Amino acid sequence: MSPAVSTNPSEITVSREKREMHVRWQDGHESVYGFDLLRQECPCALCNDQRGKQATAGGPGLVVVSGPILKAGDVQVTEARPVGRYAINFVWSDGHDTGIYSYTFLREACPCPACRGSR
Ligand SMILES: [Zn+2]
Ligand SMILES: [Zn+2]
Repeated sequence: MSPAVSTNPSEITVSREKREMHVRWQDGHESVYGFDLLRQECPCALCNDQRGKQATAGGPGLVVVSGPILKAGDVQVTEARPVGRYAINFVWSDGHDTGIYSYTFLREACPCPACRGSR
């Protein structure tokens, strides 16, 4: 059984300078997501579809999508806005804006060694 994991952020910092988003969860855990990771893991239907063509197994894997307009090291957040109390939406510098990143999704996608090790 896994310990209680909060999917409620207590603080979200989006840094365009560092090109990363920092989330502090209510259970005290901290996650840092690079913009490249977030853009690549965009959960919208369009990107899911693209990933589905490359991935054999379903589910939120770590499949890297390289679209024609996505260059690693390039993508920037134009705008970040909360969606209700459950998710955050990004507008990317490549014009893509349909990704709704639920906090549950983000928590599961936490790239820190502890979380990756427990998956
Ligand atoms: Zn998308
Ligand atoms: Zn983590």
